[in-house]
Amino acid sequence: MKPYKFSNFLSKSESGPGDGGRTGSWRVLRPVIDTTVCIPSKTGKPACFNCWLYCPDAVITKTIPPVIDYEYCKGCGICAQECPANAIEMQDESQFAPKEK
Ligand code: SF4
Ligand code: SF4
Repeated sequence: MKPYKFSNFLSKSESGPGDGGRTGSWRVLRPVIDTTVCIPSKTGKPACFNCWLYCPDAVITKTIPPVIDYEYCKGCGICAQECPANAIEMQDESQFAPKEK
């Protein structure tokens, strides 16, 4: 009997911005990164990026500072939960609406 190749059983798909449609309109709370607290922003070093890693919609960049694409961010709050520095605050989306008109 041939040995199984474990890799054959792994998913080959990867999430990407827009896979779930324009989910930014779902948002009730908006994640806002405080760059004075965010580890790579504060230190200038490519460290942490938990927000990039855990965002289920892959809408945060792995850059210094990390940038959130609000067109697709659905406001789930996972990034804020996973940030070890508590640098992401979930703010009421309605306060941003007048500025965007
Ligand atoms: S709230 Fe954070 S984790 Fe959730 S979709 Fe938006 S950027 Fe991604
Ligand atoms: S998880 Fe928090 S500290 Fe880490 S890169 Fe994201 S915002 Fe910065």
